[in-house]
Amino acid sequence: MGNIKWLFKQLIFEDLTNHPKKENMSRILYIFPHPDDESFGPAPGIAQQLKQGHEVFLLTLTKGGATRVRHDLGLSVEEMGEVRLKEMIAVEQTLGLTGMTVLDLPDSGLKDMCPMDIEQVLRAHIEELKPDVIITYAVHGISGFFDHLVSHACVKRVFCEMKREGSPYPKRLAFFTMGPDSITEGHFTLKASPAEDIDCVIEVTDDEAKIGYDALMCYQTYLDTIAKTGVDKRVHDNIHFEFFGESFDPPLRDLTAQLPELVK
Ligand SMILES: [Zn+2]
Repeated sequence: MGNIKWLFKQLIFEDLTNHPKKENMSRILYIFPHPDDESFGPAPGIAQQLKQGHEVFLLTLTKGGATRVRHDLGLSVEEMGEVRLKEMIAVEQTLGLTGMTVLDLPDSGLKDMCPMDIEQVLRAHIEELKPDVIITYAVHGISGFFDHLVSHACVKRVFCEMKREGSPYPKRLAFFTMGPDSITEGHFTLKASPAEDIDCVIEVTDDEAKIGYDALMCYQTYLDTIAKTGVDKRVHDNIHFEFFGESFDPPLRDLTAQLPELVK
């Protein structure tokens, strides 16, 4: 990865190389561009997957320092990035993630990067972890933020490239999305996927919703936004995913169910 070293700092909270996968359990890797994407998103589902015994890793591409909140706090992009990194470490502990990596790619600037550089970073991380399932945003990015759209395209490109080369992992690419029963009106207008595109719906228990709520509350500098969006009141909502190249009707209830066999 020599030629892209200058692009990012990597923080690994667990030594992945000394982490053999548990038998009969799946390794799941969520890939999102920003701190808080996991908590505004599938955090209660992550809690469920960890409770089931799966390994759940999170890769966040930026430290999120460019957020508008930084102006209210009088912080530079760099300083805000450090604040949000601390909040993410609290999220990692709250969720009990198996591992988390936060890169320092440019927040709100992924569209200005060569996508091949992003893909190289993603691929190196996927090769290190060898996850069974990887997840990123659906094509519409839910909020439509450009970093979400770039993440979708780059993760999908890496997945397709590895499949074409016959790699035994990842077995499945899933896209986090909203469903027809999701509330999409509010502070941000959110995009949902039609019912026919939904391949997995996770139903959230009270305990998992509570963990999701606690994860959101780790974002102390974001409490205003959390209140405005009302996302803290929706931690009980069903969590929806599309699958790439697979179709389930009715939708599965578990991201790791019926994983495709490797086609030789
Ligand atoms: Zn985001």
